[in-house]
Amino acid sequence: MSGLIDELRKILPASDVLVGDAISEDYTHDEALGLEPVAPAAVARPETTEQVSQLLALADRERVPVTTRGAGTGLSGAAIPSEGGLMLSTERMKAIEIDVDNHIAVVQPGVTLGELEQAAEPHGLVYPIQPGESSATLGGNVATNAGGMRAVKYGVTRHQVLGLEAVLPGGEVVQCGGKFVKCSSGYDLTQLIVGSEGTLAVVTSITLKLVPRLTHRATMLAPFESVEQVTRAVPALVQSGVAPLFVEYVDALSMAGIERRKEIELGIPQELKDKAQAYVLVVLEGGDEARNAEDLERVGEVCLEHGALDVYVLPKNQANIVIEGREESFWAGKAAGLSDQVDVVVPRAQLSAYMTRVQAVAAETGTLIVGTGHAGDGNVHLGIFQPDEDVRAGVLNQLFDLGAEMGGEVSAEHGIGIAKKKYYNARENPAKLALMRRIKQAFDPNGIMNPGKVFDPA
Ligand SMILES: Cc1cc2nc3c(=O)[nH]c(=O)nc-3n(C[C@H](O)[C@H](O)[C@H](O)COP(=O)(O)OP(=O)(O)OC[C@H]3O[C@@H](n4cnc5c(N)ncnc54)[C@H](O)[C@@H]3O)c2cc1C
Repeated sequence: MSGLIDELRKILPASDVLVGDAISEDYTHDEALGLEPVAPAAVARPETTEQVSQLLALADRERVPVTTRGAGTGLSGAAIPSEGGLMLSTERMKAIEIDVDNHIAVVQPGVTLGELEQAAEPHGLVYPIQPGESSATLGGNVATNAGGMRAVKYGVTRHQVLGLEAVLPGGEVVQCGGKFVKCSSGYDLTQLIVGSEGTLAVVTSITLKLVPRLTHRATMLAPFESVEQVTRAVPALVQSGVAPLFVEYVDALSMAGIERRKEIELGIPQELKDKAQAYVLVVLEGGDEARNAEDLERVGEVCLEHGALDVYVLPKNQANIVIEGREESFWAGKAAGLSDQVDVVVPRAQLSAYMTRVQAVAAETGTLIVGTGHAGDGNVHLGIFQPDEDVRAGVLNQLFDLGAEMGGEVSAEHGIGIAKKKYYNARENPAKLALMRRIKQAFDPNGIMNPGKVFDPA
C-alpha cells in the first residue's frame, strides 16, 4: 500500500492524498440509513481531468477499487468506498462556465447545485433540476440520475445532460455529446453513463441545459380526507393544462412535523387538520402574475372537485418555509429514528392503489410508514419506522413487490447502491442483469469501478 501512496503523490500534491487519520469520517459513508461505514486506504482529491486519468490508470494497473465521491449525500450507500480501496473525491473540481447565448452550463463534477444556482442566477438562467439537497454535486446527480420536486415539469437529470467528458478505468478520456440538443452519431454513451453510480467511469465534465428563470411563483396547499383522494387528484392536476412546477404529496404526520419544526401557522382550522389524512402542495411558476393567479384558481377547482377539504393559497414566505420543511423531511425522520426509506416509483395513475396497499402492509406488520413524495411523478418516499430487521426486510419486500406488480421500479431517483441491491437484483430481469454485467465488463474489464454497487460480479 505504501507503494501506491507514493505513486499517488507523484500525481497529486501531498496535501491532496489523504491517508490514516487525515481521512475524516465523512469519507466513510453517505446518507443511506443502516449501512456500515468503510474507511478507504487513501483519498485522492484531483483538480483536473488529466489527474483523474493518471489516477485511474494507476488504480487499474494495481487493481485497486475506486469509488468516486461527490458530496456524500446519496441515499443508497453507492459512495461508500471498498475496504482497501481508493476514494476519488471531486471536491476540488469546481470550474463553471455559463454559456449565456446557448443557455448551457459546462461544469466540473464537484460543483454543487447551490453553486450552479449562484452562477446561473445573474444571467437570468436556472438549472431546473433541484433534488432536495443543494449541497449535492452535479457529478453525484449525473451518477444517480437525480430527480426531485421539479421533475413533473422538467424531467430528471438525464433530460438536462447534453454531454459528458468521462475517464475510463485505463485512463482514456472520452467526450460524449456536446453543446447541442440533437445528435444521431453512434451509441448514446452520455445516457448510458448517467445513472451508472460510478460503476463505469468517472465523469469529469458535464454539459447541462439551462432554462430562462421565471419570476413569478404561486403556491397552493390542499388538505384531503384520504390518501386515495390526493392520489386521484394528482393525475387530474397534471392533466389540467397548467404545467405545475411541483405536485408534492405530504401525509398528515409529515405536515404536522413541518408546522412544528418550522414554527409556522398555515391558517388551516384545527377541525380540518383533524380530518386531513394527507395534503397536496402545488407550485406554479410563470412570467406573468395574472396568468399564474388564473392557473392557481384552476388548481383549486381541480383539488375541490377531487374532495379537498379546502384550498389555501400560501404567501411567498410561508410557501418557501413549507417547501424547505418538505425538503428537510429526511433529516427530521432520521432524528426521529427512521429505520429506512424507499423511493419506489409507479405509473402516476397507480399511486392511489399503491398507497392503499402500503397502508395495509403497515397495519399488518405493525410498522409506521410515513410518506411524502413527488406525487406528480408517481414517486413516493416512504419512511419506514420498524426496528426489527427481519420484519423490516419483509416490509420492504412487500413494498417492492407491490411496486413491481403495478409496473413500477425499486428506485425512482436515489439509486440502488448497496442499500437496495438485494431487492433490485431479486426483481430485475436476469437477461437485463446479464447485459448490464457485459456492459460493465466492456467499460471496466478489471472490475475496479465502485465494485459491489448495483449488482455483484457474475
Ligand atoms: C435531505 C436529502 C434530500 C434529498 N433529496 C433528493 C431528491 O429530491 N431527489 C434525488 O434524486 N435525490 C435526493 N437526495 C439524494 C442525493 O442528494 C442525490 O443522490 C445526489 O445526486 C447525490 O449527489 P452527491 O454529490 O452527494 O453524490 P455522492 O453521494 O457522493 O455519490 C453518489 C453516487 O455518484 C457517484 N459519483 C459521484 N460523483 C461522480 C463522478 N464525478 N463520476 C462518476 N460517479 C460519481 C458515486 O460513486 C456514487 O455512486 C437527497 C439526499 C438528502 C440527504
